[in-house]
Amino acid sequence: MSFIDSHCHLKSFHDELALDQTLGKASTVGVDQMITVGTNTDDWDLYENLSIIYAGKVFYTVGIHPCYVDKSWAAQSKMIKAFWTRESKPVALGEIGLDYFRLPKDKNASKDIISLQIKCFNEQLKIAKSLDCPIVVHSRDSFEDCLSYIDKSGVNWNKVVFHCFSEGKERMQQIIDRGGTASFTGNITYGKNKHLHEAIKLQGIDNLMLETDSPYLTPEPNRRDRNEPSSIPKIAQFISNILGISENDVERIIYSRTKTFFNII
Ligand SMILES: [Zn+2]
Ligand SMILES: [Zn+2]
Repeated sequence: MSFIDSHCHLKSFHDELALDQTLGKASTVGVDQMITVGTNTDDWDLYENLSIIYAGKVFYTVGIHPCYVDKSWAAQSKMIKAFWTRESKPVALGEIGLDYFRLPKDKNASKDIISLQIKCFNEQLKIAKSLDCPIVVHSRDSFEDCLSYIDKSGVNWNKVVFHCFSEGKERMQQIIDRGGTASFTGNITYGKNKHLHEAIKLQGIDNLMLETDSPYLTPEPNRRDRNEPSSIPKIAQFISNILGISENDVERIIYSRTKTFFNII
Protein backbone atom coordinates (compact mmCIF):
# COMPACT_ATOMS: atom_id res chain seq x y z
CA MET A 1 0.00 0.00 0.00
CA SER A 2 1.23 3.51 -0.84
CA PHE A 3 -0.45 6.51 0.64
CA ILE A 4 0.22 10.21 0.50
CA ASP A 5 -1.02 12.67 3.12
CA SER A 6 -1.93 15.67 0.98
CA HIS A 7 -2.11 18.15 3.86
CA CYS A 8 -0.36 18.10 7.24
CA HIS A 9 1.58 20.54 9.40
CA LEU A 10 4.87 19.03 10.57
CA LYS A 11 6.21 21.99 12.58
CA SER A 12 4.99 20.84 16.00
CA PHE A 13 6.47 17.35 15.46
CA HIS A 14 9.75 18.94 14.41
CA ASP A 15 9.80 21.33 17.39
CA GLU A 16 9.28 18.40 19.78
CA LEU A 17 12.09 16.43 18.08
CA ALA A 18 9.52 13.78 17.21
CA LEU A 19 9.65 14.06 13.42
CA ASP A 20 11.75 10.95 12.67
CA GLN A 21 9.48 8.92 14.89
CA THR A 22 6.33 10.36 13.27
CA LEU A 23 7.60 9.69 9.74
CA GLY A 24 8.70 6.19 10.75
CA LYS A 25 5.28 5.40 12.18
CA ALA A 26 3.61 6.70 9.00
CA SER A 27 5.90 4.58 6.86
CA THR A 28 4.99 1.37 8.69
CA VAL A 29 1.36 1.80 7.54
CA GLY A 30 2.32 2.77 3.97
CA VAL A 31 2.19 6.58 4.25
CA ASP A 32 5.53 7.24 2.58
CA GLN A 33 4.87 10.71 1.28
CA MET A 34 3.27 13.84 2.68
CA ILE A 35 2.81 17.52 1.94
CA THR A 36 3.55 19.84 4.86
CA VAL A 37 1.49 22.98 4.42
CA GLY A 38 2.76 26.46 5.21
CA THR A 39 0.72 28.84 7.33
CA ASN A 40 2.98 31.88 7.85
CA THR A 41 6.59 33.03 7.54
CA ASP A 42 7.54 31.06 10.69
CA ASP A 43 7.22 27.71 8.95
CA TRP A 44 8.15 28.30 5.28
CA ASP A 45 11.95 27.99 5.63
CA LEU A 46 11.61 25.00 7.92
CA TYR A 47 9.34 23.25 5.42
CA GLU A 48 11.70 23.92 2.54
CA ASN A 49 14.50 22.41 4.66
CA LEU A 50 12.43 19.35 5.50
CA SER A 51 11.72 18.82 1.81
CA ILE A 52 15.47 18.73 1.20
CA ILE A 53 16.34 16.54 4.21
CA TYR A 54 13.50 14.11 3.45
CA ALA A 55 13.66 14.47 -0.33
CA GLY A 56 11.06 12.42 -2.17
CA LYS A 57 9.15 11.90 1.06
CA VAL A 58 8.21 15.36 2.33
CA PHE A 59 6.92 18.05 -0.03
CA TYR A 60 5.85 21.53 1.00
CA THR A 61 3.76 24.59 0.29
CA VAL A 62 4.04 28.24 1.32
CA GLY A 63 1.18 30.61 1.99
CA ILE A 64 -0.40 32.89 4.58
CA HIS A 65 -3.27 31.12 6.38
CA PRO A 66 -6.21 33.49 7.00
CA CYS A 67 -5.90 33.03 10.78
CA TYR A 68 -2.30 34.30 10.63
CA VAL A 69 -3.08 37.43 8.66
CA ASP A 70 -2.03 40.62 10.38
CA LYS A 71 -0.89 44.09 9.36
CA SER A 72 2.38 42.72 8.01
CA TRP A 73 0.60 40.61 5.38
CA ALA A 74 1.76 42.71 2.43
CA ALA A 75 5.45 42.42 3.35
CA GLN A 76 5.05 38.69 3.99
CA SER A 77 3.28 38.05 0.70
CA LYS A 78 6.19 39.67 -1.16
CA MET A 79 8.39 36.80 0.05
CA ILE A 80 6.25 34.04 -1.47
CA LYS A 81 7.29 34.09 -5.10
CA ALA A 82 11.00 33.67 -4.38
CA PHE A 83 10.36 30.15 -3.04
CA TRP A 84 9.70 29.07 -6.63
CA THR A 85 13.34 29.89 -7.44
CA ARG A 86 14.74 27.92 -4.49
CA GLU A 87 16.61 24.62 -4.56
CA SER A 88 13.44 22.79 -3.54
CA LYS A 89 10.28 24.41 -4.88
CA PRO A 90 6.85 24.34 -3.19
CA VAL A 91 4.25 22.03 -4.75
CA ALA A 92 1.46 24.58 -4.19
CA LEU A 93 0.59 27.98 -2.80
CA GLY A 94 -1.34 27.57 0.45
CA GLU A 95 -3.01 27.41 2.64
CA ILE A 96 -4.81 30.60 1.75
CA GLY A 97 -8.41 31.67 2.07
CA LEU A 98 -10.91 33.16 4.50
CA ASP A 99 -11.86 32.12 8.04
CA TYR A 100 -14.94 33.88 9.47
CA PHE A 101 -15.17 31.36 12.33
CA ARG A 102 -12.19 32.35 14.45
CA LEU A 103 -12.68 36.10 14.68
CA PRO A 104 -12.36 38.60 17.54
CA LYS A 105 -15.62 39.14 19.51
CA ASP A 106 -15.40 42.90 19.07
CA LYS A 107 -17.35 43.83 15.92
CA ASN A 108 -14.97 46.50 14.66
CA ALA A 109 -11.87 44.38 15.29
CA SER A 110 -13.57 41.52 13.48
CA LYS A 111 -14.42 43.73 10.49
CA ASP A 112 -10.81 44.90 10.29
CA ILE A 113 -9.49 41.34 10.31
CA ILE A 114 -11.92 40.25 7.60
CA SER A 115 -10.85 43.14 5.43
CA LEU A 116 -7.16 42.19 5.89
CA GLN A 117 -7.96 38.52 5.14
CA ILE A 118 -9.67 39.49 1.89
CA LYS A 119 -6.79 41.71 0.76
CA CYS A 120 -4.26 39.01 1.62
CA PHE A 121 -6.29 36.28 -0.11
CA ASN A 122 -6.67 38.33 -3.29
CA GLU A 123 -2.98 39.15 -3.39
CA GLN A 124 -2.02 35.49 -2.97
CA LEU A 125 -4.48 34.46 -5.70
CA LYS A 126 -2.76 36.98 -7.96
CA ILE A 127 0.63 35.45 -7.17
CA ALA A 128 -0.75 31.94 -7.75
CA LYS A 129 -2.14 33.01 -11.12
CA SER A 130 1.23 34.36 -12.21
CA LEU A 131 2.96 31.15 -11.05
CA ASP A 132 0.19 28.96 -12.51
CA CYS A 133 0.62 26.65 -9.52
CA PRO A 134 -1.84 24.52 -7.47
CA ILE A 135 -3.68 26.38 -4.68
CA VAL A 136 -4.72 24.97 -1.30
CA VAL A 137 -7.79 26.81 -0.01
CA HIS A 138 -8.88 27.10 3.63
CA SER A 139 -12.52 28.14 3.83
CA ARG A 140 -14.40 28.30 7.11
CA ASP A 141 -17.84 29.92 7.33
CA SER A 142 -16.81 31.79 4.20
CA PHE A 143 -17.58 29.43 1.32
CA GLU A 144 -19.44 31.85 -0.97
CA ASP A 145 -16.86 34.60 -0.54
CA CYS A 146 -14.01 32.16 -1.26
CA LEU A 147 -15.74 31.02 -4.45
CA SER A 148 -16.38 34.53 -5.65
CA TYR A 149 -12.83 35.81 -5.03
CA ILE A 150 -11.36 32.75 -6.77
CA ASP A 151 -13.75 33.28 -9.70
CA LYS A 152 -12.75 36.94 -9.97
CA SER A 153 -9.03 36.15 -9.77
CA GLY A 154 -9.06 34.15 -12.98
CA VAL A 155 -6.92 31.32 -11.55
CA ASN A 156 -7.29 27.91 -13.17
CA TRP A 157 -9.97 26.07 -11.16
CA ASN A 158 -8.41 22.73 -12.15
CA LYS A 159 -5.56 23.64 -9.81
CA VAL A 160 -7.74 24.56 -6.82
CA VAL A 161 -8.34 22.24 -3.86
CA PHE A 162 -10.67 23.14 -0.99
CA HIS A 163 -9.00 21.36 1.89
CA CYS A 164 -10.82 19.82 4.88
CA PHE A 165 -14.08 20.05 2.96
CA SER A 166 -16.90 20.47 5.50
CA GLU A 167 -19.82 21.48 3.31
CA GLY A 168 -22.80 19.60 1.86
CA LYS A 169 -23.76 18.35 -1.59
CA GLU A 170 -24.89 21.66 -3.08
CA ARG A 171 -21.60 23.37 -2.36
CA MET A 172 -19.66 20.37 -3.60
CA GLN A 173 -21.56 20.72 -6.87
CA GLN A 174 -20.42 24.35 -7.13
CA ILE A 175 -16.81 23.21 -6.87
CA ILE A 176 -17.31 20.39 -9.39
CA ASP A 177 -19.00 22.77 -11.85
CA ARG A 178 -15.89 24.93 -11.82
CA GLY A 179 -13.45 22.03 -12.21
CA GLY A 180 -12.11 22.24 -8.66
CA THR A 181 -11.35 19.52 -6.11
CA ALA A 182 -12.12 18.91 -2.45
CA SER A 183 -10.02 16.93 0.01
CA PHE A 184 -11.29 15.25 3.14
CA THR A 185 -9.86 14.73 6.62
CA GLY A 186 -10.63 12.56 9.66
CA ASN A 187 -13.67 14.76 10.30
CA ILE A 188 -15.62 12.47 7.91
CA THR A 189 -15.55 9.88 10.71
CA TYR A 190 -17.35 12.16 13.20
CA GLY A 191 -20.97 11.26 13.89
CA LYS A 192 -22.28 14.79 13.28
CA ASN A 193 -20.75 14.94 9.80
CA LYS A 194 -23.01 12.55 7.88
CA HIS A 195 -23.70 15.30 5.31
CA LEU A 196 -20.11 14.93 4.18
CA HIS A 197 -20.79 11.37 3.00
CA GLU A 198 -23.15 12.75 0.36
CA ALA A 199 -20.56 15.29 -0.72
CA ILE A 200 -17.94 12.54 -1.06
CA LYS A 201 -20.29 10.37 -3.12
CA LEU A 202 -21.06 13.31 -5.39
CA GLN A 203 -17.39 14.07 -5.97
CA GLY A 204 -16.64 10.39 -6.60
CA ILE A 205 -13.39 8.54 -6.31
CA ASP A 206 -11.62 9.92 -9.39
CA ASN A 207 -11.32 13.46 -8.11
CA LEU A 208 -10.81 12.75 -4.43
CA MET A 209 -7.85 13.55 -2.17
CA LEU A 210 -7.25 12.68 1.47
CA GLU A 211 -5.40 14.53 4.19
CA THR A 212 -4.94 14.41 7.94
CA ASP A 213 -4.48 18.16 8.62
CA SER A 214 -2.43 16.76 11.50
CA PRO A 215 -1.80 17.55 14.29
CA TYR A 216 -5.55 18.43 14.17
CA LEU A 217 -8.73 16.43 13.39
CA THR A 218 -7.86 12.90 14.53
CA PRO A 219 -10.28 10.28 13.12
CA GLU A 220 -12.60 8.36 15.44
CA PRO A 221 -12.27 6.35 17.67
CA ASN A 222 -9.12 8.12 18.89
CA ARG A 223 -10.37 11.65 18.44
CA ARG A 224 -8.68 12.98 21.58
CA ASP A 225 -5.20 11.91 20.49
CA ARG A 226 -2.95 14.10 18.46
CA ASN A 227 -3.36 13.40 14.77
CA GLU A 228 -0.47 12.14 12.63
CA PRO A 229 0.05 11.32 8.93
CA SER A 230 -0.20 7.63 9.94
CA SER A 231 -4.02 8.15 10.21
CA ILE A 232 -4.45 8.25 6.41
CA PRO A 233 -5.20 4.50 5.99
CA LYS A 234 -8.03 4.80 8.57
CA ILE A 235 -9.57 7.65 6.58
CA ALA A 236 -9.13 5.66 3.35
CA GLN A 237 -10.88 2.68 4.92
CA PHE A 238 -13.80 4.89 5.93
CA ILE A 239 -14.02 6.30 2.37
CA SER A 240 -13.95 2.80 0.93
CA ASN A 241 -17.05 1.95 3.03
CA ILE A 242 -18.87 5.13 2.01
CA LEU A 243 -18.18 4.61 -1.70
CA GLY A 244 -18.45 0.81 -1.73
CA ILE A 245 -15.07 0.54 -3.45
CA SER A 246 -12.28 -1.80 -2.33
CA GLU A 247 -9.53 -0.34 -0.15
CA ASN A 248 -6.97 -1.28 -2.78
CA ASP A 249 -8.75 0.73 -5.46
CA VAL A 250 -9.27 3.68 -3.12
CA GLU A 251 -5.57 3.68 -2.28
CA ARG A 252 -4.44 3.31 -5.90
CA ILE A 253 -6.74 5.95 -7.41
CA ILE A 254 -6.24 8.57 -4.69
CA TYR A 255 -2.48 8.12 -4.67
CA SER A 256 -2.19 8.72 -8.38
CA ARG A 257 -4.73 11.60 -8.39
CA THR A 258 -2.88 13.41 -5.58
CA LYS A 259 0.50 13.08 -7.23
CA THR A 260 -0.88 14.38 -10.53
CA PHE A 261 -2.66 17.33 -8.86
CA PHE A 262 0.50 18.48 -7.06
CA ASN A 263 2.78 17.49 -9.90
CA ILE A 264 4.84 15.16 -7.72
CA ILE A 265 6.90 12.69 -9.72
ZN1 LIG B 1 -7.02 24.84 6.95
ZN1 LIG C 1 -4.12 22.93 7.49
